[in-house]
Amino acid sequence: MQNTDLHIGGDWRPGGTGDRFDVLNPADERVLASVASATPEDAIAAIDAADAAFADWAGRTPRARAEVLRRAFELMTERLDEFAHLITLENGKARADAMGEAAYAAEFFRWFSEEAVRAHGDLMRAPASGARIMVQEKPAGIAVLVTPWNYPAAMGTRKIAPALAAGCPVVIKPASETPLTMLALLPLLEEAGVPPGVVNVVPSARAGAVVDAMLHDPRVRVVSFTGSTGVGRKLLRAAADQVLKPAMELGGNAPLIVFEDADIDTAVAGAMQAKMRNLGEACTAANRFYVHETVHDAFTERFTAAMAALKMGDGTDEGVDVGPLVNAETRDKVAAFVDDAVARGARVKLGGAAPGGKGYYYPPTVLTDVPADAECVADEIFGPVAAIQRFTDEADVLRRANATEYGLVAYVFTGDMARGLRVCEALEYGMVGLNRGLVSDPAAPFGGVKQSGLGREGAQEGMREFMETQYISASW
Ligand code: NAP
Repeated sequence: MQNTDLHIGGDWRPGGTGDRFDVLNPADERVLASVASATPEDAIAAIDAADAAFADWAGRTPRARAEVLRRAFELMTERLDEFAHLITLENGKARADAMGEAAYAAEFFRWFSEEAVRAHGDLMRAPASGARIMVQEKPAGIAVLVTPWNYPAAMGTRKIAPALAAGCPVVIKPASETPLTMLALLPLLEEAGVPPGVVNVVPSARAGAVVDAMLHDPRVRVVSFTGSTGVGRKLLRAAADQVLKPAMELGGNAPLIVFEDADIDTAVAGAMQAKMRNLGEACTAANRFYVHETVHDAFTERFTAAMAALKMGDGTDEGVDVGPLVNAETRDKVAAFVDDAVARGARVKLGGAAPGGKGYYYPPTVLTDVPADAECVADEIFGPVAAIQRFTDEADVLRRANATEYGLVAYVFTGDMARGLRVCEALEYGMVGLNRGLVSDPAAPFGGVKQSGLGREGAQEGMREFMETQYISASW
């Protein structure tokens, strides 16, 4: 049985008030564990621990930090099964999705172990004075990390690995639905050589108060958040008080466009990945399908057949593709989106109703002729529902695809690469999948434009979120 207390300065301890909260298994609604709930005072104690650890960690050579991260990658890779099982238990996602997440999460340790030794600076002569312009990247300071429930491991490691590579200690506040995976990672990080206080974890049933206390501590310099746009806005407002460096990975509303010249098998396979990875509980999930009217029926038939072939059940069971959604609220929201679309004239090709009974299940669902004013066109569905619309004209579909405050990811399927690249450029999105239903890659800059966020995770950019540029003007 793993430890379920707070982890501060290398020690496990209960929260200051002794309060705890339950974590449920979404497959059967049973209590999995009772987790210590941090108070704002506990959170400040975690900042104390990070502060005490900062100078030593930042002062280690890049190679020394890289080797700790490399070891974390190796240890996590040896234990993918254990992590995947825990992810399925607390989040519900099926085993294959959980294994995919665990491997993706571990890869951030490998990628940033390689990036830790490449924090390059710059040197040039000032054009007018001839002085030397010396530029170096320094660790920005203590980082507060706040993560969502949909990827309990990967959304944490995508922040922890670059922060540690840059030399920053962190305090992480995992989502209340899924704190167990992050708590299970702590012993592994210690085994890899992360010193006490460099990574602290403060689960809490009082997210707002705990995070707010940390963002107002003058020792904190970075806030890195992944979650909904609404909470992101609040954290940006709080970050303004101390002018913190913000990294915001927020909501999405991804369009998926299938042109008449697309290879339909490629489009169906890509659409399945873009829609059903993580059973649709992903910021990258295809939310609005736009299919050219000449291929609409062929695409819809084959896509519906692929959706119908998925097996729903407890994610820990062999052969299950679609587990339960994370909680009752998420399931009910998905059901309400479907009911609203149907009331406005959408047609149900598959699924369309929750099965009832224990567990937060909602079946793979395909809706066609979804009207543009349906709620699921404007908002994130965050579930296994494909909402299909038709289009006839490239300019029109581009206008519809861009008509949202979000700008995280879009997907385009076409056999004509000139058109594909033209459309990619015109899409107001931070990422585009061209004839691909998957864009996530630790080596690529993940992030959105407009109200989908600020900053990038992964790639070289990911480490810069935790570094500050210093320029020295020198003469010799
Ligand atoms: P959420 O409700 O915004 O919660 C995210 C995190 O913020 C949780 O740890 C939550 O704690 C905490 N939180 C909630 N209210 C807070 C407050 N007032 N102050 C400080 N922290 C607060 O999001 P979610 O429902 O967990 O995740 C789904 C959302 O995340 C979707 O919108 C999805 O698109 C987005 N997402 C984006 C990306 C990306 O990379 N762009 C990736 C994954 C998910 P509690 O759990 O205790 O409430």
